Amino acid sequence: MNHVEYLVVGLGAMGSAALYHLTQHGVQATGIEQFEVGHGFGSSHGHSRVFRTFYDKPVYTELAMASIPLWRNLEAQSDEHLLYQTGMLCYAPPGHASLEQHIRVQASVGGSHDILSSEEVNSRYPALHIPNGNIACLTHDSGFLHAALAIRTHVAQARGGGAEVLEQTKVKGIDLTPRLPEVETDRGRYRCEHLIITAGPWAGRLLQEIDVPLTVTRQQKFYFTPQQRAPFLPEHLPVFVITWRISTVFPILAPGLKWLMITWGRLQILLL
Ligand SMILES: Cc1cc2nc3c(=O)[nH]c(=O)nc-3n(C[C@H](O)[C@H](O)[C@H](O)COP(=O)(O)OP(=O)(O)OC[C@H]3O[C@@H](n4cnc5c(N)ncnc54)[C@H](O)[C@@H]3O)c2cc1C
Repeated sequence: MNHVEYLVVGLGAMGSAALYHLTQHGVQATGIEQFEVGHGFGSSHGHSRVFRTFYDKPVYTELAMASIPLWRNLEAQSDEHLLYQTGMLCYAPPGHASLEQHIRVQASVGGSHDILSSEEVNSRYPALHIPNGNIACLTHDSGFLHAALAIRTHVAQARGGGAEVLEQTKVKGIDLTPRLPEVETDRGRYRCEHLIITAGPWAGRLLQEIDVPLTVTRQQKFYFTPQQRAPFLPEHLPVFVITWRISTVFPILAPGLKWLMITWGRLQILLL
């Protein structure tokens, strides 16, 4: 039986960050990953995830703002560029209750933002063409994170800080009946003082054993190659959210313009 202080199960975006911050606090931590670190089967692979500071509750905006120096610190330690503060633009028809609540929160926490008309958006960002008569809010602190690189960087820095990382090691069962949690893997059994389960889409199966119900659903994303690349680069385009259609467009990092779609948006109308 191996004994560890902190055990992190699953090293995607959440687990790799947890492992890194534990080592930053000087505690002994072990991370277990069923595949290799940075694999493409989970929720966190790919080049971009929105970094939002635009929420309808102040606590989330404050949390996001508080994380910015932590990301910058990780970048300085690793010499990697992870957080792109391109800004994030959300638009909706005037009087849209959710957009208005988000704007009220921005104002209440002092978040830097601009309110723009459709005409102002379209002239400021040549890649966009939103319909006349809409209201947009641009939050300057938002943007996107290079998700896959963030995982590799968190794990590399955690390793450098003394964390143990076990790749190609699958957790097969969790036993919470002993005084300390025990975790059965295909490479031996671990007892830990603190257990962090960050198993992403696999969490449903793993947590079922300890009676935590979770339903996992699939999300689709698409990449497009625009004819003109320049207007879609992070220097010229913020992350762009169609508030009333719950759809998000990212500037090009690679391999193309990313469109995360909950519903099919009006792509041909919105993007030139
Ligand atoms: C298409 C899409 C777009 C998204 N866009 C955004 C966005 O723009 N902004 C945003 O903030 N969020 C976004 N999200 C959500 C965000 O990406 C996820 O919340 C986040 O990546 C989840 O990370 P995770 O570490 O929980 O899961 P994962 O990255 O899936 O990591 C779980 C890890 O646990 C490991 N694991 C699982 N079971 C076991 C086991 N039994 N033994 C050992 N290891 C195990 C897996 O192999 C995996 O590496 C998006 C999600 C998707 C799917």
